[in-house]
Amino acid sequence: MEPDLAALLGPDAFAILSAPHRNFIDGQWRESLSGETLPVIDPATECEIARIPRSGSADIDLAVISARRAMESGPWSRMNGADRGRLLWRLADLLHQQADVFARLEALDTGRPVFETRLVDLPGSTGMLEYMAGWATKINGESVPVSAPGTFHAYTEREPVGVVAVIVPWNYPLELAIWRMAPALAAGCAVVVKPAEQTSLTTLHLGHLIEQAGFPPGVVNIVSGEGETAGAALASHADVDAISFTGSTQVGRGIIRAAAGNMKRVFLELGGKSPMIVLDDADPEQAVPGIASAIFFSAGQVCTAGSRVFVHERIYDRLLDGITAFARNLAIGHGLDEATRLGPLVSAEQRDRVAGYLATASRAGTYFATGGAPVDGPGYFMQPTIAVDVDPEAALYREEIFGPVLCVRRFGDGQIDDVVRMANDTVYGLHASIWTTGLSRAHRLARRIRAGNVCINTHNFFDPALPMGGFKQSGWGRAAGFPAIEHYTELKGIVARL
Ligand code: NAD
Repeated sequence: MEPDLAALLGPDAFAILSAPHRNFIDGQWRESLSGETLPVIDPATECEIARIPRSGSADIDLAVISARRAMESGPWSRMNGADRGRLLWRLADLLHQQADVFARLEALDTGRPVFETRLVDLPGSTGMLEYMAGWATKINGESVPVSAPGTFHAYTEREPVGVVAVIVPWNYPLELAIWRMAPALAAGCAVVVKPAEQTSLTTLHLGHLIEQAGFPPGVVNIVSGEGETAGAALASHADVDAISFTGSTQVGRGIIRAAAGNMKRVFLELGGKSPMIVLDDADPEQAVPGIASAIFFSAGQVCTAGSRVFVHERIYDRLLDGITAFARNLAIGHGLDEATRLGPLVSAEQRDRVAGYLATASRAGTYFATGGAPVDGPGYFMQPTIAVDVDPEAALYREEIFGPVLCVRRFGDGQIDDVVRMANDTVYGLHASIWTTGLSRAHRLARRIRAGNVCINTHNFFDPALPMGGFKQSGWGRAAGFPAIEHYTELKGIVARL
């Protein structure tokens, strides 16, 4: 049964949940053209709590036309960097004012604990808007000393790439939409955002803040709908210049194919199977909560989740006991309950996927130090699970589970080369961490890990200034820092005969 959402959400967030949810296109609020809607399910109770537009290719067309018009209209194309930066700051200020409302809605929609959405999603969103606001005035080219400098004067300029499609997954809907939109807007692009069909509420509601901040109509368009229809229409649209996709590696491959038609610039942030290496001199006080949080935060539904850990035998028992106790003590509950530390998975589909991996591993004789099965419903809850000595060929060890499941392996003296080989033996290369008090060892090891981000004595570290992204099949390009701006600009060389 659905709990008293009015009481749990508070009046402001409840009013937003209860109001109609519409697409935001060309500065206007619109139903899908077909009038069709999709249900929004509370993953902790399995109850329907709202409906969102089920948009199709005709809605996407309208949004792309509106973005193109905004791109070519004076108010946006002639706006200088300082004014674009001011709009991003204003949006950040409005989001600060409503941070708790957004945090609650996000917790309800994703199932993730509200303590997380307050701690991570909202500061991460406002932080990125503020950081990219600063870049808006600093996107410049350079003069180039060509071979005949007295005869020719050459320089480069960075121009906005054009209309950008932003497609995001369901785990961190608001924050990921903002992480992709903010650099594009700072660069002067117009965007069409398609949130994931499971979790669109906060992204749709962001349209109200974009309106209030004063962005010209059409600069930001937000359209909800399913991946195979709305998402596919956006990815293959001939008038979209670039696509920023965050999601699974499998869908990412399809995005590349869809983008080939008109050679869109493609930016991909995909899956991971991130290793953690615990050396014999690691500080257990730091490593135990650090490693447990790396996998159990957001119930493991994090692209960078630390899902494989290699532990030196001298610290193994203490570490395994510590993370097992941590897992058993996690308060499982509704995301809106302040005490909750482990919410449900986002959908029945995800719960069944994760349960399937565990059942297969169990049949193969895998030992679970704790967990290993779903929690009885209602709600898509999964036990926090620690699988010990998993076969390195098993699907549980090799594939992205996207649930609260950690695979643990031990190693001994003289085996660090094997550990590095095993850590890198994956099609992914998104994130990794090394736990040790020996900093020279840590830095030496960090260089050997094939991943876009390597953390030392921490995991899941993100900052608007630090480039983030994947090696290998974890993606193309980098989010955050100036590299993010580069994706949304074209570099032009200009030369004049003097
Ligand atoms: P997904 O790939 O199924 O969906 C992501 C988005 O793509 C959704 O909006 C979906 O509607 C859309 N989509 C689905 N099919 C499409 C198609 N054919 N054409 C166009 N769009 C389509 O991913 P998910 O299940 O929502 O999210 C989980 C995945 O996201 C995991 O693999 C995770 O690692 C990854 N992820 C990566 C990052 C990162 O920064 N690297 C961050 C978060 C999540």
